Amino acid sequence: MKTFIACLGTETNTFSPIPTGLQNFQDTMLYHGDATQGPADMHTAPLMVWRDMTEADGGEVVESLATFAQPAGITVRAAYEGLRDEILQDLQAALPVDLILLNMHGAMVADGYDDCEGDLLQRCRDVAGAEAIIGGELDLHCSITPQMCEAADALITYKEYPHIDTKERAAELYNLCRDARIGKTKPVMAVHDCRMVNTWGTPVEPMKAFVARMQDLEGRDGILSVSFAHGFPWGDVPCATARMLVIADGDDAKAEALAKSLGAEIWQLRHETAPLMTPYREALARAAAAPAGPVVVADVADNAGGGAPSDATFLLQEILDRGLTDNILGLYWDPMAIRLCKEAGLGSQLTLRIGGKCCRESGLPIDLDVTVEGIIENAVQPFGSVTQPIGDAVWLRAAGNVNLVLNSLRGQTFHPDAFGQFGPFGMELSSLKIIIPKSSQHFYAGFAPIATEVIYATSPGTLNTDFGTIGFTKLKTPFWPNVEDPYDS
Ligand SMILES: [Zn+2]
Repeated sequence: MKTFIACLGTETNTFSPIPTGLQNFQDTMLYHGDATQGPADMHTAPLMVWRDMTEADGGEVVESLATFAQPAGITVRAAYEGLRDEILQDLQAALPVDLILLNMHGAMVADGYDDCEGDLLQRCRDVAGAEAIIGGELDLHCSITPQMCEAADALITYKEYPHIDTKERAAELYNLCRDARIGKTKPVMAVHDCRMVNTWGTPVEPMKAFVARMQDLEGRDGILSVSFAHGFPWGDVPCATARMLVIADGDDAKAEALAKSLGAEIWQLRHETAPLMTPYREALARAAAAPAGPVVVADVADNAGGGAPSDATFLLQEILDRGLTDNILGLYWDPMAIRLCKEAGLGSQLTLRIGGKCCRESGLPIDLDVTVEGIIENAVQPFGSVTQPIGDAVWLRAAGNVNLVLNSLRGQTFHPDAFGQFGPFGMELSSLKIIIPKSSQHFYAGFAPIATEVIYATSPGTLNTDFGTIGFTKLKTPFWPNVEDPYDS
């Protein structure tokens, strides 16, 4: 058994004006065939699982490119084609192979390619031929397309949001594809379009029970795998809606029937699972009036993990306008301001122009008198069991104990330690009234334990969470909540 493994992905917010070029891939994660020798992170971990399982089966592994870009706007065509072609050349050189296992995102768009994963899978099929078994692991914020299903033998998405199950899904994909290669099973895929645009957190009910139910259905009665692809609301592509994906053993009708019935269950839960969002002015007023802090107010619309710039100033401006004290906001992606702070040095006082630099959705920059309270080069923050680099980080304090953390490597705020690493210099999060991380959901595991209350705030930033009003042009099918009943029209 020879297994070919690779990773290529990003989550493309087609509404974000930030181009995704080679520099982003280099800054985020880029290995040319040796990712499994480096530290494990969310995107390399599946490759490590596939290597270990292949070798445990006495097989041989050929490892190709592994790269991922921090979510942003449409990928530069030359960057995508160059990375894709490196994988295809490695595959050509490795032939014949039994298994091709690709770790991808599923919502990657490049200039000229609405469906990068479908393109990559199809080209792998063309190179490797019909005999090879091709499997793909996808983030659940993916857009499942007919081309992807046509080219691949098996696709499995994460089941959990936050994404804590990348290794488990990788192991399942390996087993499924190996069984197919040795003729034990004959996987067939069926997809049901739920015609919904939404986000679904899985640590809470009713989605927690739905995840358990999907797992219960697997491995019995001819069902090999069940995935719920949530879709990515900010990708304007023809297949942007949520989809149920079922893999059965040789029985198309069975796969189709189950996908449809599980899709109906998701539809029934739509009102219960719609996210609870609060307009940011109201959110900050509520936080200020809370009897005790810290209240965590998530700046959902400026989440870099969804392709936003992470330099929007709407909430900061509101904090200043209301004269709210004892708070902290971050991470602001502002390499230029960091440059000035480092030049001025620790303890210096200056008038600094902060944020609002990337695009209209960033709001306006804010000129603020600040003290440079801390500088950390090559800072990190925890994300689950791994650490995530955030570049150089600077802690600023303005009048009223308004604290800001700026960083030089764009990324969402996963954990209080992104701020708390300044603790040795005097930062004490528990004494603050309001904490504002730029994140949609991944912040929750770390921040909820230190919060008296968590509020998800909407603002005019890049991620519009009023899903019915997102300006799709390529998604042609009706969808909820844009229409009440998308199956009616
Ligand atoms: Zn995701």
